[in-house]
Amino acid sequence: MKRRNFFKFGLVAGALSLVKPLKGATLIGQSFEEKANGPIVVSTWIHGMEANKAAWEVLSKGGKAIDAVEKGVRVTENDLTNRSVGIGGRPDRDGHVTLDACIMDERSRCGSVAFLEGIKHPISVARAVMEKTQHVMLVGGGAHKFAVENGFEAAKTPLPEVKKEWQEWKKENKDLFKKPEINHENHDTIGMIAMDVNGDFSGACTTSGWAYKLHGRVGDSPIIGAGLFIDNEVGAATATGLGEAIIRIAGSHTVVELMRHGYSPLEACKEAVNRIIKKHDDLTGLQCCFLAIDKQGNIGSYSVYNGFNYALKTNSEEKMVDAGFNRNW
Ligand code: ASP
Repeated sequence: MKRRNFFKFGLVAGALSLVKPLKGATLIGQSFEEKANGPIVVSTWIHGMEANKAAWEVLSKGGKAIDAVEKGVRVTENDLTNRSVGIGGRPDRDGHVTLDACIMDERSRCGSVAFLEGIKHPISVARAVMEKTQHVMLVGGGAHKFAVENGFEAAKTPLPEVKKEWQEWKKENKDLFKKPEINHENHDTIGMIAMDVNGDFSGACTTSGWAYKLHGRVGDSPIIGAGLFIDNEVGAATATGLGEAIIRIAGSHTVVELMRHGYSPLEACKEAVNRIIKKHDDLTGLQCCFLAIDKQGNIGSYSVYNGFNYALKTNSEEKMVDAGFNRNW
């Protein structure tokens, strides 16, 4: 290298090294990990802010992560204006609102319901499956029967305004296998993971799934290892986005297992996203996002496209954080 060029390079490199990125800020394709001491709760998307507050009521009093995550996501399930979680959700193409949810605790106990109709709090039904049965997953009519027998509140779906919107949609969309658009109306599961004061992890994930999906379709959200995974020795991960792609790589399990092998939460989420990218020729409409915490309290998140963010609550902070991403859409 000529002396003058070497000098120029030295100046630029020196200047760059002085520019310290802001914590929580996002550069293209790169975000910076968060770190917290004490209890942590993080959850996907902006509705996570309210859900985190409820979870924090449990965590801040020294309560267990499993109680925090259930209480937290029930807030989102309760919100009738939410079109992607709970009974306010959009229906499948036949007009049925079918709900998916799962929960997992620090002892790797887990419960799940899928393709469940007309029950207000699928997450609590999932917890009852975990605690009261010898099974992990109940679906459809069986899950509904179990919920009713165990006294869970029923609800009529779809809501009238949601039904009207679906009827309009149906007139214009005859294509059975239309690809989803990447936007927040279509995909907005709440996945919540938390670490309590004892350093124990739990997680919960609940959704009405892909709007106008085929009747019977189940995504990643109720599948342990896809939409959610906890390994108390290592950490926790959850996912949102196109469930089919997340299932193909056993997404949340992959993230936790990568952390076990030394990846940071951000690196693990990024590697899982890269694996999805490698396995699909056409990434149009294929948004997938992962969010993870490790045992040391590091938090990381990464998605295929920009636009994904998550809500964070700790002893010292309450905020939305942008995830890293591979590409712009
Ligand atoms: N993962 C959910 C599903 O595929 C949807 C979402 O997260 O937006 O059903």
